[in-house]
Amino acid sequence: MALHTPLSGCYPDLQSLLHRASMFTPPFFLRPSMNASHYLPRQATAVRLAVLLACSAFTWAQADSGDETPGVESSVKLPSQAKGKPPSWAGKAYRQGVVSVANPYAAEAGAKVLEQGGNAVDAAVAIAYALNVVEPQSAGIGGGGFMMIHLAGTGETFTVDSREKAPAGATPDMFEAILPANLRSRTGLSVGVPGMVRGTAMVVEQHGRLPLAKLLQPAIDLAEKGFAATPRFSSVSCTDRALNSPESAAYFCPGGVAPTPGTLVKNKPLAETLKLIAAHGPDCFYKQMPERGCDIAQGIVEGQARTEIVVGGVTQAGAPGRMTLADLEAYQPAIREPIEGIYRGYKIKSMAPPSSGALTVIQILKMLERFPLADADAGYGFGSVKTLNVMAEAMRLAFADRADWMADADFVPVPTKGLIDSTYLNGRSAMILPGVRMTTDPLPGDPRMFETSGLTPARAVAKAPPVTGPDNGTTHFSVVDKWGNVVSYTNTIESSHGIGTFAGFYRPDGSFRNHGFLLNNELTDFNTVRSTNRVSGETGYNDVQPGKRPRSSMAPTMLFSPEGTPILAYGSPGGATIINSVVNITVNLVDHKMGLQEAIDAGRISVASASVTGNGSVQLEPRLPAASIQGMSALGYRITGGDVGSVQAVLIDQKTGKQYGAADDRREGTVIGLPRR
Ligand code: GLU
Repeated sequence: MALHTPLSGCYPDLQSLLHRASMFTPPFFLRPSMNASHYLPRQATAVRLAVLLACSAFTWAQADSGDETPGVESSVKLPSQAKGKPPSWAGKAYRQGVVSVANPYAAEAGAKVLEQGGNAVDAAVAIAYALNVVEPQSAGIGGGGFMMIHLAGTGETFTVDSREKAPAGATPDMFEAILPANLRSRTGLSVGVPGMVRGTAMVVEQHGRLPLAKLLQPAIDLAEKGFAATPRFSSVSCTDRALNSPESAAYFCPGGVAPTPGTLVKNKPLAETLKLIAAHGPDCFYKQMPERGCDIAQGIVEGQARTEIVVGGVTQAGAPGRMTLADLEAYQPAIREPIEGIYRGYKIKSMAPPSSGALTVIQILKMLERFPLADADAGYGFGSVKTLNVMAEAMRLAFADRADWMADADFVPVPTKGLIDSTYLNGRSAMILPGVRMTTDPLPGDPRMFETSGLTPARAVAKAPPVTGPDNGTTHFSVVDKWGNVVSYTNTIESSHGIGTFAGFYRPDGSFRNHGFLLNNELTDFNTVRSTNRVSGETGYNDVQPGKRPRSSMAPTMLFSPEGTPILAYGSPGGATIINSVVNITVNLVDHKMGLQEAIDAGRISVASASVTGNGSVQLEPRLPAASIQGMSALGYRITGGDVGSVQAVLIDQKTGKQYGAADDRREGTVIGLPRR
């Protein structure tokens, strides 16, 4: 059986693993399909990489020539694909741990922690804090996320839900009066009670090897001593949302100009905030403790209670948030079981509600399982119209279910079993006709009869508004350590720069006590307009409720061998497209037998709405074959382009114990493997 692909030699061990697992797959699915002709020349990427190359040369020259020393040695380079070369990590095997992160400074922070004897949990926490400094637009202590952890010692895999919550004063109608609707995510009302600090403190206490204070140190150093602005940091620094408050505008876009790549950027207020947490623990973030200097809670509450926002340079009235000090003090993360599914013999575990990640990913994959996606002779194969067509239809069907059935299961009876029941999904998949675009928008199915427990049968569900598209919010990273512990962690403040306002408050003398981190706008992941079920008229599952977590798409995922050992940790940012990035990578590896870096580099398809006739469209990355994009258009799909997601992954070869990393050139993905040369 020929499984060779252009880069397959980079990952011989994955190839053999995939080969072994193919024994669990019906034989007709197993046909060689990949060849180099499936790839287009990547002109768009080449242009971007050339820009990055120019920028990176400038970055380090400038960082090194200034009076100030950047916070990280210049041995930390931008990803090597930024220099137009194949990633330096491609195909390289390690044994002492691997980090794969969307930013080179944060990757360095994680690698150093592993070298200091920390485990994957420690490294993940250090990375998360470092990202708050160097990728502040995406994630940080003002937001929340989902961390999936696999412990080698016990074989357990579980998730830590540090997703933001609606405050006690939240009401289902609270966003409706804010018009135009696009202002909803700019006001304090959209700020959820942040979860990252208690979530990370909990995992460090329960599973870490190093103290929290030590894990915060790389972030403190980066914030205090500074870092050279990366091209991506610069490119988003003067976007309108970053300028939502005078203090954020002054930091990100001083004088109305974004810092050029290479400019030394410091965030001393954030360094002080992180030092407070390091000295006094997570309660210093969640409680006012003036005797210890802990005033961060006041900064969060007053930050979200601002009455003014700045949109398009115009200051206007905002809607103050309703979070109180009591909401903050009450916040607790939750440990949750991941949701599992089997795809062609591989076990997939991903994030359970309040995320729609696992349920939607598994739905799509199970609906696709009956199609021989690798079989080029049958018209399938990577990037063919037939493959893209059935993937688009499976995504549409799954997103129809997602809109009505998926939300915070602590509050509503999500039919988690029925939604991924094989019989139910076989029926849904039967609606997919290769070569045809469904002409009407699919309605959700009714999975309740496939659920065995936990449901109120008469419970009605609601139609959700269209999901928002991807932007620069959110970040995903993956870590494996020398003991075989694995972490897959997606962290977010929702939109790029969240609400665009730093936590902080005005002192009586009018000066601003700045805490240096951005507040999230996660609550607009709820239905911002009360919704009703199209059939029964009852309350929407994802409508706002006090204490509830908004539905997420974040899908930190792990793929396991048929024997149950972890092979892969992966995930992505990208709003609802996260789900589709995870599906694309899974299909690329399992069906198309790609190497891991190749699977990440390959063009992606994303459909994040059931509607193709209305607002919905099929996003096809320009990396996909032009003929296939035209072919999809000829089938009647409305096509959009642009990047889909940013996947960071680590892979463990179960036979040899070798570890690999792969990262995404759609952002500044960086892999560091240990031991270093
Ligand atoms: N807030 C989104 C979610 O939880 C993620 C936003 C993004 O990835 O851009 O699904």
